[in-house]
Amino acid sequence: MPQPPSDYRSITAPDEDPGDVNAGRVAWSPLKSLWLGSMAGVALVGGALTFSWSALALFASVTGMVLLLGHSLGSHRKLIHNSFDCPKWLEYLLVYLGVQVGLSGPIGLLRQHDLRDYAQRQEDCHPYLRHGRTLLADGWWQLFCELRLDRPPRIELSAAIAQDRFYRFLERTWMLQQLPPAVLLYLLGGWAFVVWGVCARITAGVAGHWLIGYFAHNHGGMHHAVDGAAVQGRNIGWTSLLTMGESWHNNHHAFPSSARLGLYPGEWDPGWWVLVCLRRAGLVTRITQARDLPPRPELRALDVRIANDGGSGLPAAGWMATLRAGWTILLGRPSLALHAPGINLAPAKLARLCGSRVECGGTGQARLQLVVDTTVVRGLPAVVLGIAARGPMTGAAALLLLPAAAALESVRAALEAAEPA
Ligand SMILES: [Zn+2]
Ligand SMILES: [Zn+2]
Repeated sequence: MPQPPSDYRSITAPDEDPGDVNAGRVAWSPLKSLWLGSMAGVALVGGALTFSWSALALFASVTGMVLLLGHSLGSHRKLIHNSFDCPKWLEYLLVYLGVQVGLSGPIGLLRQHDLRDYAQRQEDCHPYLRHGRTLLADGWWQLFCELRLDRPPRIELSAAIAQDRFYRFLERTWMLQQLPPAVLLYLLGGWAFVVWGVCARITAGVAGHWLIGYFAHNHGGMHHAVDGAAVQGRNIGWTSLLTMGESWHNNHHAFPSSARLGLYPGEWDPGWWVLVCLRRAGLVTRITQARDLPPRPELRALDVRIANDGGSGLPAAGWMATLRAGWTILLGRPSLALHAPGINLAPAKLARLCGSRVECGGTGQARLQLVVDTTVVRGLPAVVLGIAARGPMTGAAALLLLPAAAALESVRAALEAAEPA
């Protein structure tokens, strides 16, 4: 079982000195304004003068790469939340790409993120920290100003990051880190590639980061509420591909250290897809998922499906997702955890039935359930899939039964949903 890292790894325990995340003032930031202003200015004027389809294609591909591998995987899922393990060289490469977004250095980004995270979980916090004003006012604040709290909470970084020489170097030189790609792009395609591949990319990345941050705290769907929090995260489905999965922000507020952000069926999460590929390639080992995290009493499921889930935080899979889980068991190496109600079905008996790939245990569920990575399968299909995991022969045989078992379960779920609570 992977050991999940603590959600609050970089902040002082609130009983020491919680600080005050309310009192403070927003001040114009010359540095931020100059940085974004000059990038946006060059991108607008230079971009119009040097436009070509190849420059536009370059812009789209480098922006996508930097957001996916750099910001989402390197900065957010690895550096900030430590939600997976990978070799140090890969971590450095991903975080270096994250610095290329042009938001700040890695340590500054970690501090900003953790201050915001901490503040948003308090009962109230400064509107700057919860994107609490109108769209335009928030844009002015986040892009051109900074918040100066009177008594900021003390954010203590883990020594592994604070003492890391590479991260300290990037922190001092994060703006200059745009020079190596700029030189490379100049050699490849002249000024057009520099304007589109550096200035337009930074403008889009920084402005997009703010825009998603604004909507992800004001508009969009919710699966969970964090009781007592100053602001709730929101899921914005249509930007999931553009943001590499980062816009499943309600899921992120509910399960901050989960490496997977799109948790429910149909929630596209490109960052997660890449992590799964990296794990296949042997480059990523531990991956923390929502089910690995300790239960949070303040977390309240809003969807009926999730609330009925018996505490695993994930809704039961539908017919198609159950079949997909069958394929994953047959062809891949998903993690498999079987939870029994504890009556009639002793875990030891189940373990004999399902073989060694399935981790049996965790009683107390209302019904038998098998968790295949993050897909929760209940009832008869769970038993069939458990047996399928024994080996290729039983797997093929069990998968023949699976459609019927899944159909029965769907009927049962539909009947259950039709019953008033
Ligand atoms: Zn948030
Ligand atoms: Zn986060």
